[in-house]
Amino acid sequence: MAFDGLAEKLQNTFKNLRGKGKLNESDVKSAMREVKLALLEADVNFKIVKDFIKKVNERAIGQEVLNSLTPGQQVIKIVNEELTELMGQTQSKIDFSANPTILMMVGLQGAGKTTTSGKLGNILKKKGKNPLLVACDVYRPAAIKQLEVVGKSLDIPVFSMGDKLSPVDIAKAALKHAVKNNNDLIIIDTAGRLHIDDNLMVELEDIKSSVKPSEILLVVDSMTGQDAVNVAEVFNERLGIDGLILTKLDGDTRGGAALSVRAVTGKPIKFACVGEKLTDIEEFHPDRMASRILG
Ligand code: GDP
Repeated sequence: MAFDGLAEKLQNTFKNLRGKGKLNESDVKSAMREVKLALLEADVNFKIVKDFIKKVNERAIGQEVLNSLTPGQQVIKIVNEELTELMGQTQSKIDFSANPTILMMVGLQGAGKTTTSGKLGNILKKKGKNPLLVACDVYRPAAIKQLEVVGKSLDIPVFSMGDKLSPVDIAKAALKHAVKNNNDLIIIDTAGRLHIDDNLMVELEDIKSSVKPSEILLVVDSMTGQDAVNVAEVFNERLGIDGLILTKLDGDTRGGAALSVRAVTGKPIKFACVGEKLTDIEEFHPDRMASRILG
């Protein structure tokens, strides 16, 4: 699971801190040096680590903390609060005010867009939505088939028009189809590329301007670490994303992407995917994730 290495290191550091009873400034500073190393080893962006440690130090070296009866506990609480803040403070929900709500899924090929479109449809269907999945990846014929298979296994309708029409035309037709069939939620699976390229961005911009999605959700593979952060920055600059979905958090990842994307893009992580099964998706709760890391 992501964060396992980080969690183990932080938990060791804090065990020492708790065991000490009274703390002085240098105890806190040396613990924070360990936290800093652990975060860097987890592949968290350097600047973010620096800011994070500065904030924690400023708060933790205050007299009330050091003179309290449980200074170690207080320091851990501050780290927990700052980790939560780093990942976005509160849970960020999808805005369902538009009917139909249109979610446009974007990301690089292999990030997990198609699978995640299905997972998202499924979790939202359980909350009472009537979703329609839309196959707009016309370059990879297997992608259309893949979405159809996913839809079938979840009992969610899939709108596809093969690979001869443009994604914009398909998306527009899907919108009409959804209105006619009372689908209050449209999830558009768009094409990806192995790397960011201009053609892809132009196509996504065209879809965006023609269907005016309620939200553009970027799917990023957390296994790719700092690359995921760079991808998020570029997609956000070009398209203006509304949120992120992190995939493959079940893998043996160091967790750095999850801890960095929010701070770098300013956009919230809305869901986390933790496996290949279509039920392996969770709403992202920054506070719960911080507690999971700190044990
Ligand atoms: P796309 O090219 O972005 O549409 O990516 P796909 O949806 O085809 O996913 C690529 C691969 O990643 C597939 O083998 C998925 O089963 C796998 N995958 C997607 N999400 C997760 C996840 O959260 N955990 C794991 N372990 N695998 C995932």
